[in-house]
Amino acid sequence: MDNVELFDAGEKGKGLRTTKDLKAGEVVFTEPSFAAVVFDSLSQQVCHNCFRRQVNLHRCAQCKFAHYCDRTCQTACWDEHKQECAAIRNKGKAPNENVRLAARVLWRVQKDTGIVSDSQLISVDQLQDHLADMSTDSLKELKINVQNFLDYCPNTKHGSEYISHIFGIINCNGFTLSDQRGLQAVGVGLFPNLCLVNHDCWPNCTIILNHGKIELRALGKIAENEELTVSYVDFLNVSADRQRALKHQYHFDCMCKSCSEHFKDDLKMAAKETDGKKPSDELVKEVQKYSLECLAKIEAARAASNFNEVVKLSRECLEKQEPVLGDTHLYKLRVLSVASEVLSYQHNFSEAAGYARRMVEGYTKLFHPNNAQLGMAIMRAGVTHWHAGLIEVGHGMICKAYAILMITHGATHPITQDLESIRMQTEMELKMFKKNENDYHSMREAALQNKPTGKMTASLSGEANFKKQDNTK
Ligand SMILES: [Zn+2]
Ligand SMILES: [Zn+2]
Ligand SMILES: [Zn+2]
Repeated sequence: MDNVELFDAGEKGKGLRTTKDLKAGEVVFTEPSFAAVVFDSLSQQVCHNCFRRQVNLHRCAQCKFAHYCDRTCQTACWDEHKQECAAIRNKGKAPNENVRLAARVLWRVQKDTGIVSDSQLISVDQLQDHLADMSTDSLKELKINVQNFLDYCPNTKHGSEYISHIFGIINCNGFTLSDQRGLQAVGVGLFPNLCLVNHDCWPNCTIILNHGKIELRALGKIAENEELTVSYVDFLNVSADRQRALKHQYHFDCMCKSCSEHFKDDLKMAAKETDGKKPSDELVKEVQKYSLECLAKIEAARAASNFNEVVKLSRECLEKQEPVLGDTHLYKLRVLSVASEVLSYQHNFSEAAGYARRMVEGYTKLFHPNNAQLGMAIMRAGVTHWHAGLIEVGHGMICKAYAILMITHGATHPITQDLESIRMQTEMELKMFKKNENDYHSMREAALQNKPTGKMTASLSGEANFKKQDNTK
């Protein structure tokens, strides 16, 4: 934690600021979790130690609940799992992930106190719990969790007030962990130093999970004494919606510059302009309403794996949107994103590439140039173009994505390493293409015939984010 110090950030409470100038892509700090658990739904598919998704995990012979890559992961985790293992055996089954996380936090506080290393700037139990701001429904849920906790750990010396405090902390500070390739949210953990980094809708840092630790990385130059910020919400929402989401989940009113100036809201809701003329407000409203309804249907069809329906609905929706909504309109970008993803999955790469390119053009006008979500979208578009045989555009996009990911993810991240090998491949193919186009196309076709391409083109989620998955419903 040499690069940062705690300071009083006024209305925002505590904050972190730099103690020296930082460069783009520089790691501000790394932090292992204080405690973390795998989601209930993935407890048999994800290693409880390193959070990698693997097939054939080894099961803990005693509780039959925890799963590990191998003996090494199991041994590394035993200190953390020991008490959990006994509690699960006593109870006969494991409680939900929130209760498991609260128990791990409390066991660790008991064993090591709330501060486990010199570099930890705040004790876990000093984090905000926002219990006073919680809705009646959330409080009801919290009470049930406290009850389940007492069932699970009947010998705890803590009263229900302190246990509620821990659940409150988890609720607003829990950080979602994704698998090694950032494809799927697999668990939730508590990172005390990270909790001290305040939110800004246009932040100067990004968080990435790499080999089980989080890294805070600078998105651009940051001067000495500047406050460090990350975004807790998706920038692909207008300021009012972001503010609402932040209030609901984190209980504060965002006063950041982007929100006060409604930065880029006009682009996100833009109407189409042709020869200086715009469609009527009424028509724009009507198409927006139609788009929202259509997006709900598209989501439902996708959840039901009805991909032909997703494609059909997306085409219809885009046709209606085309003359009315601008190219940076959020509803258009959402349709383009789903359509390109599903069409790639169906190996209809040409149509997918067209949509992906338009999506990337829109994103580029909205996002910070080093935004991780933008980098991942360009990577996906590049791979789609490559598969469509559009090697020149594809390679260009892959190089661009690589430059962004070197900043947001760093050279050692598995996604960057995947992208690096793709980049070498497309570079070689581009050379071949320039020598002889016919040879290139027949080679490409043969390659696509016998190589499944689902992995790279499947849903690639963006930046790791703060939003905790609510799996308790
Ligand atoms: Zn493992
Ligand atoms: Zn066990
Ligand atoms: Zn804001």
